[in-house]
Amino acid sequence: SGKITVQDLANEMGKTVSEVIKELMMMGTMATINQEISFEIASLVATKFGFELTTADDSETEDEIEKLMEIEEDKEEDLKPRPPVVTVMGHVDHGKTSLLDAIRKTNVTKGEAGGITQHIGASEVKINGQKIVFLDTPGHEAFTSMRARGAQVTDIAILVVAADDGIMPQTVEAINHAKAAEVPLIVAINKIDKDGANPDRVKQELSEHGLLVEDWGGDVIAVPVSAKKNIGIDHLLEMVLLVAEMEELKANPDKRAVGTVIEAQLDKGRGPVATVLVQGGTLRVGDPIVAGVASGKVRAMINSKGKRVKVAGPSTAVEILGLSDVPQGGDQFVEVPSDKVARSIAEKRQQQQREEMLKSSQRLSLDDLFNQM
Ligand code: GDP
Ligand code: MG
Repeated sequence: SGKITVQDLANEMGKTVSEVIKELMMMGTMATINQEISFEIASLVATKFGFELTTADDSETEDEIEKLMEIEEDKEEDLKPRPPVVTVMGHVDHGKTSLLDAIRKTNVTKGEAGGITQHIGASEVKINGQKIVFLDTPGHEAFTSMRARGAQVTDIAILVVAADDGIMPQTVEAINHAKAAEVPLIVAINKIDKDGANPDRVKQELSEHGLLVEDWGGDVIAVPVSAKKNIGIDHLLEMVLLVAEMEELKANPDKRAVGTVIEAQLDKGRGPVATVLVQGGTLRVGDPIVAGVASGKVRAMINSKGKRVKVAGPSTAVEILGLSDVPQGGDQFVEVPSDKVARSIAEKRQQQQREEMLKSSQRLSLDDLFNQM
């Protein structure tokens, strides 16, 4: 367990540093005033002075609780292939929403036509029997707010560029986000049905931003599509699978579930509702979880087709009910061993959050004070 400096140990016992150092020397340990000594050595010294050294109980349990939040490293042999998680990025009005709609429609069988009206912030499609997960969060948000919080949810980014408009400021931003996150990029040259469409100009402009497309001798895959007329969508999805295959995406389904909150809100009837992406392990109804400052037992899970499910493995987006509070997009969620642990971690985090808020409000009022003077 913990360590203590010679100085602190002396202070705790009301002894001088040199008395403690002398005692240490007699035990064969050379130490200086600011040196840290182990709990074991410190308790030996303490005994000599007639003290008993104990660790504080709550710090012990806090350590243990924090340990429960750590996810064990995966062993290579436990890893199984998992579907890719994709976000769509691009300049406003270049067709991100239309493309996601078109993609969603590729898979709708008659029976589940109603399913697409139920919206959970993510969708799944199957092409050639293989699953792809699409996040509806605008790509920029998915990258900026989530990455700011240490979350990486995207395996592949689709960059939508309107063929009649070319590269625009948010296109460049998207390219930079994908580069910074080291996420492979596939370009969807959209609106090729339009009169002013000029895919070659788009390719030219891409090359000016360091993206050389395949037919120009580079390695960037660019697929001409029309989200509106449903042209090239299947081809685009096949390219997603091709890139995914090269990435060799894997996860361990047989451990405590861990993942990221995609979005969350308070629903009048259902309480806090969060769409989460399971990234490792398997989440089941009844599992106790912590998500940011929220905790709870998973009461129900709803998949991207609007169906209730009991189990969600790696690369599955589900809406979950049963949380105590509304977590934030980008928060990590972790399955923990018990309800009690979940509550205690969440409470501790809420406490920390309150303290931080208090601190910043105090800073604020001091600043206000000085501004008035
Ligand atoms: P977003 O802002 O990137 O989500 O763009 P939207 O999907 O909202 O599309 C912006 C506008 O472009 C809408 O009016 C769409 O109907 C139109 N649009 C999107 N894709 C296409 C396309 O492939 N062809 C044509 N002609 N219009 C499209
Ligand atoms: Mg949109």
